[in-house]
Amino acid sequence: MAEPYCKSYYAATANTTAPFPRLEGSIDVDVAIIGGGFTGIATAVELAERGVRVAVLEANRIGWGASGRNGGQITGSLSGDKAMEKQFRRNLGSEAAEFVWNLRWRGQDIIRRRVGKYGIRCDLKHGHMQAAYRPSHITELEDMYRAACAHGMGDEVEMVYGADLHRYVGTGIYHAGLVNRRNMHVHSLNLCLGEADAARSLGAGIFIDTPVEKIIYGDRPELVTARGRVRADKVMIAGNGYHHFAPGKLSGMIFPATLGIVATEPLPEELAKSVLPQDFAVYDTRFVLDYYRLTADRRLLFGSGTNYKGTASSDIGAPMLPAIRKTFPQLADVKIEFAWEGQDGITINRIPQLGNVTPNVFYAQGYSGHGIATSHVIGEIMAAAITGNARDFDIFASAWHWRLPVGRYLGNRALALGMWYFQKMEALR
Ligand SMILES: Cc1cc2nc3c(=O)[nH]c(=O)nc-3n(C[C@H](O)[C@H](O)[C@H](O)COP(=O)(O)OP(=O)(O)OC[C@H]3O[C@@H](n4cnc5c(N)ncnc54)[C@H](O)[C@@H]3O)c2cc1C
Repeated sequence: MAEPYCKSYYAATANTTAPFPRLEGSIDVDVAIIGGGFTGIATAVELAERGVRVAVLEANRIGWGASGRNGGQITGSLSGDKAMEKQFRRNLGSEAAEFVWNLRWRGQDIIRRRVGKYGIRCDLKHGHMQAAYRPSHITELEDMYRAACAHGMGDEVEMVYGADLHRYVGTGIYHAGLVNRRNMHVHSLNLCLGEADAARSLGAGIFIDTPVEKIIYGDRPELVTARGRVRADKVMIAGNGYHHFAPGKLSGMIFPATLGIVATEPLPEELAKSVLPQDFAVYDTRFVLDYYRLTADRRLLFGSGTNYKGTASSDIGAPMLPAIRKTFPQLADVKIEFAWEGQDGITINRIPQLGNVTPNVFYAQGYSGHGIATSHVIGEIMAAAITGNARDFDIFASAWHWRLPVGRYLGNRALALGMWYFQKMEALR
């Protein structure tokens, strides 16, 4: 049964698009994609721009999953960057570090160009700060700052300390900050809807309310739905934390973590300025972090914590209000108007998983909390692979991944235990 959008700030302020249909009957395409989040939709845009006949089948609504529920922060953070550098050396040798560095910024370029090219209305804004939560975290920001300068980004980054932090964030809880003007923030559901509309304008079939029930593998795989079927030369699974396909190959590889997020009531202009004077997005340096930004109507959109057990919370806002008040005492009386949560696919080594179930059935998943920019890079990589240039795809596909030989329930509990350990270790730093 297809589900409506959750009651989020994003759903309440979504742009109206011409309705996307449900699949009725049988169609034949070059490429069929399961999942209408950023991974599926970004790949569809790339394929449609190359003239490929593509259809996306989404079980619920466009951006119904993590893509339409997230913090909206488009940053150069890559979960698993160190693990990637190490593993990618097998294919790339000494170029691995540069490849991973470039991955950090490819997504920003793709999104900026696409939003401009198709005129997508999604409140896209530049400006971000990563804030040191403990004095011992300052070094990692300074290392990142030096790396950015060495790569010619000196004009876009800045280290700030002490009272200077107040130019960007109205709190005294941080010890330093790395300002990055290449990073952006966005109304993510409107970005996803706008990209789906762009793909449609290029001839892609975008179908909602269409859960794929079964993949029939073969020379030309077939996707079976309640009211129709799609036959294709190639299929891509882009269901991330929400799908259960190919258990023989993919179970025990990815675990859905639940992330909660809230939006306050709109703040008066002066109060909003006291919180984020430059309208930049912020997240801190902890392993499980706080992240926040202002929306176009001046709400504070605030996310905190991750439930690695993957279970729903009974009161999403309860742990957020103390975190908001601790960060911004000036918001002591602020009310939360929206609280929602979503699931993101976490991989154990935090490297995104790209690969094949069979030669003509691909998958891409698992951005471990940092998926807006990454899913757009992966969309480019998947479209290239599907149309014959598998260079970058092969680099990801040859990465080794942990696989827990247990079901999701036990796997999520093992993951929660591992993350608890990392958090405890971090607290000692
Ligand atoms: C609360 C939260 C905050 C986050 N904040 C940030 C952030 O600030 N910055 C950042 O970079 N990342 C963030 N992320 C992560 C980011 O949102 C995700 O990594 C990214 O959106 C994943 O995109 P996706 O398309 O792979 O998956 P999803 O957006 O989850 O899409 C998967 C889609 O597949 C569909 N599907 C599943 N099974 C089927 C089926 N059988 N048939 C048809 N369709 C199916 C689902 O309905 C769903 O719509 C956050 C995530 C959450 C949950």
